Amino acid sequence: MSAGSLFADHALLPGGWARDVRLDWDAAGRLTAVQPGASAEPGMPRAEGPLLPGMPNLHSHAFQRGMAGLTEYRAEAQDSFWSWRSLMYRFALRLSPSQLEAIAFGLYVDMLEAGYTAVCEFHYVHHDTDGHPYADDAELARALLRAAERAGIGLTLLPVLYQTSGFGGAAPAEGQRRFIRSTASMLRLLETLRPACEAQGARLGLAPHSLRAVPPEALRDALAGLAAQDATAPIHIHIAEQTKEVEDCVAWSGQRPVAWLLDHAPVDARWCLVHATHMDADEYCRAAATGAVAGLCPTTEANLGDGLFDLPRWTAGGGDGEPDPAARQGASSTASGAGRRPGGGAWGIGSDSHACVDAAEELLMLEYGQRLLRRQRNVAATAAQPDVATALWLSGVGGGAQASGRALGGLAVGQQADMLVLDAAHPVLAGLEAPQMLSAHVFAAGRQRPLAQAYVAGRKTVDAGRHPLRAEAQRAFVQARRELLAGGA
Ligand SMILES: [Zn+2]
Repeated sequence: MSAGSLFADHALLPGGWARDVRLDWDAAGRLTAVQPGASAEPGMPRAEGPLLPGMPNLHSHAFQRGMAGLTEYRAEAQDSFWSWRSLMYRFALRLSPSQLEAIAFGLYVDMLEAGYTAVCEFHYVHHDTDGHPYADDAELARALLRAAERAGIGLTLLPVLYQTSGFGGAAPAEGQRRFIRSTASMLRLLETLRPACEAQGARLGLAPHSLRAVPPEALRDALAGLAAQDATAPIHIHIAEQTKEVEDCVAWSGQRPVAWLLDHAPVDARWCLVHATHMDADEYCRAAATGAVAGLCPTTEANLGDGLFDLPRWTAGGGDGEPDPAARQGASSTASGAGRRPGGGAWGIGSDSHACVDAAEELLMLEYGQRLLRRQRNVAATAAQPDVATALWLSGVGGGAQASGRALGGLAVGQQADMLVLDAAHPVLAGLEAPQMLSAHVFAAGRQRPLAQAYVAGRKTVDAGRHPLRAEAQRAFVQARRELLAGGA
């Protein structure tokens, strides 16, 4: 890597849009200067359109990209998450390390072309097809590390602890055999993976899969073991995605999942509560107050029929989501996200099952869900940031960075130079003001993608909308999926 600089006529900084911005970064890809109102030196590289912070994708199961589009038919009278999951298990049971690597490589190249410059990989297929550990217990995790490094995307690797098939310690099902490991073996896996992660600048965290898959004592021991290795490591958990999960948790403990977690785990800003779709008013208040990030995956949640997260309630800190007086006076703009009110909850976006891989489309779906729910427009906008696409983008970057446990918090000194350049000459954007270009990118681009460049740690990974390894990555992806489908359903 080498140091670099870029001049942008318009750049989206954490506090909002700025003009004539000069950015410099060091050899490690960290921004050392972000100067609005600057003038460009002769010969300095110039962004050909508005500059945006790259979007971290906070929730990914890479292998599921291989089955995107394959579960869109009715298998049961009441098709749901649970019937989708049984198909997903059949797919997961056949996957080889080289197939995982090929699918992840194809996926990560797609992500870079689609506005994501980093990904949190919630990685739960650990063992061979019989359920035995590989000779190298980290075999499949290393496949993901290689895929990310080759594509050039930033990575937060979250090995998943998975032990039971339901609340109350129900024995794992046969279809879960590749996921299961003891707490001690998980902690050893983290130690094994740490040098490889550090060597490529990836962050290592832990993902207790869910309360139904991790019993209380395992959760407690895993968190203690993780803290002994890295007290600031990110912790991600699936929580309250499904109403059945809420009902089962209440039957088991007398509490709803988020309430149970908040009473039994030290939830704080290291945590990402993935989905958190089904919370009552008290859970919204309490969870937002912990500083944890809500990991929203709008297109997957729509695809699986999960339900809708109440975004205004979350960003209001659990209140009713009506604009508060402080926000009305313009006091709510913070470095961690323009759509977040003081004391309000942080959030970011993930593409999860990868039925859709596009940062802008994820934000569109998030905002449209809220509009349909509330019968209002521009729901994620605030008085401080009335431009809804800008508010959505900044909040997604702030929450995504926090969940990644990496310095990805936007175009500011000390953060990594992860950046996107909008294609100002694209017919969808041409002739518009910079904030309108972002609005058009999020709300009016359809399935076109007016993104010209992506930079990760100051290195250009996408140019003219294309990753240089696109063709190779697509070939490998298609081949792996063919093999998996030929394995029978
Ligand atoms: Zn997930």
